[in-house]
Amino acid sequence: MKKQVKKAGFSTTAVHAGEIRYNEYGSITTPIVQSSTFIFKNVDEIKKLAQGAVGRFEYGRYGHPTQVAAERKLAALEDTKDAVLFSSGMSAITTTLFAILKAGDHIIITDDAYKRTLDFCLKCLNRFDIECTVVKMCDYEAIEKAIKPNTKIFFSESPTNPYLNIMDIKRLMGIFKGKGIYVISDSTFATPYNQKPLEYGIDLVIHSATKYLGGHNDLLSGVVLGRKELTGVIREYLKITGGCIDPHSAYLLIRGLKTFELRMQRHNENGQKVAEYLESHPKVKRIYYPGLASHPHYQIAKKQMKGFGGVVTFEMEDDVSKALEFLSRLKIINIGPSLGGVESLATHPATISYYAVTREERLALGIKDGLIRLAVGIENAEDIIEDLKQALL
Ligand SMILES: *Cc1c(COP(=O)(O)O)cnc(C)c1O
Repeated sequence: MKKQVKKAGFSTTAVHAGEIRYNEYGSITTPIVQSSTFIFKNVDEIKKLAQGAVGRFEYGRYGHPTQVAAERKLAALEDTKDAVLFSSGMSAITTTLFAILKAGDHIIITDDAYKRTLDFCLKCLNRFDIECTVVKMCDYEAIEKAIKPNTKIFFSESPTNPYLNIMDIKRLMGIFKGKGIYVISDSTFATPYNQKPLEYGIDLVIHSATKYLGGHNDLLSGVVLGRKELTGVIREYLKITGGCIDPHSAYLLIRGLKTFELRMQRHNENGQKVAEYLESHPKVKRIYYPGLASHPHYQIAKKQMKGFGGVVTFEMEDDVSKALEFLSRLKIINIGPSLGGVESLATHPATISYYAVTREERLALGIKDGLIRLAVGIENAEDIIEDLKQALL
C-alpha cells in the first residue's frame, strides 16, 4: 500500500493518494473489486480476522478494496485522518446524525440547509424524541441563543443553496468552543479545494460526493471526514444502516477525483465569468455569487475560501412563465437539478425543487418566481455566456 502523499501538491495528491502503488495485477488503476463476499484461504485466515487483522475484507457492506482507496484519497485531499464513504450524501448525513444523537438530545440546524437534511431533522429525528431548532443562517446571536444544556450537534452548510450564504467559520467556532457540542458542516458547495472547515476546528465535514467530488454527473455518493474517534463510530453505524458505496461507484469517484483540481479551477473561473456577465445584464434583477463584491458575504468568502465554485444564482423578472421560457431557449446548458458536474445545468427552483409546496410557502423560503440557479460546468466560458445571452434575449 502506498503511503499517502504528504505535503505533495493538491493534484499530485488527487492522482496518487490512496491508490495501491503496485497491485497484484500491475494495473495502474485501482481495480473495481466487484464482490459481495471475501473468502478465506484457510482457517488460519478466519483466526486472523477474529484478531482484527487489518487489510483483509469480510463482506461487502463492511468495506471493500475500491472503497478503501477512494476513502484514503478523500481523507488526503481534506487533510484529515479518516473518510467514510456512503452510497449518497443523504446516507452520509442520516447515518452520521443517527450515530451521534440519542433520545433527549437537541440539534441546531440552519434554515437554508439542504431541504432533505431539514426534512430528516424535522420529520424523522423528532419521532425519536430528538429536538430540533432551526436558526437563521449567519444570525450568530440566534445561533448562540439556541444552545441548550442538551444540545449535541450544530449542523450547517457553507456556501448554501441557492443564495450561496457563507458562514463565518471562525466566528461560529468562537460560539461553540469548549461547549462539548459537535459542529458538523456540509461543505458540498465548497469542496476541499475551495475550503477546509476542519482547519477551523469543525468536528466533521460532510460532502455529497455526487457533486464536485465525483464531478461527472454519473454517480451518487457521500462522505464524512474527520478524526477517527468520531468517524469510527459512524463507520460502525454504516455497517448497520447499510448505505455502503458499491465498487463501481467507488471506482468512478476515484477516477473523477484525479482531475479534481483542474475541474475546480475551471468551475471557479467559469463561475466568476458567468456571474460578472450576468451582473451587467439588464434582464437580471439581482445576482448571488460570493465572488462578487455585491454578495453580502463577499468579504468573509474571500478570507476563508480559495474560490467560489460554479453555482451562480440570479433573479429575473417575477414571472414563472418567463423564467421557464428562458430555460427552454438554452442550447448548451441542460435543464436539471444537481451541480458540480462537467455539464452546465440550469434549474428553476420554484418549479423543479418546490413543486410540492404552495407559492406562499415557497416565497416564505425566499424562492421567488424568477429565481434561476446555474451550476456552471467546465465548458468554455464564452460558449456558456453566449448561450445565456441568446436565452435572455
Ligand atoms: C446534493 C446535496 C446533498 C445530498 O446528497 P445526495 O448525494 O444527493 O444524497 C446534501 N447536501 C447538499 C448541500 C447537496 O447539494
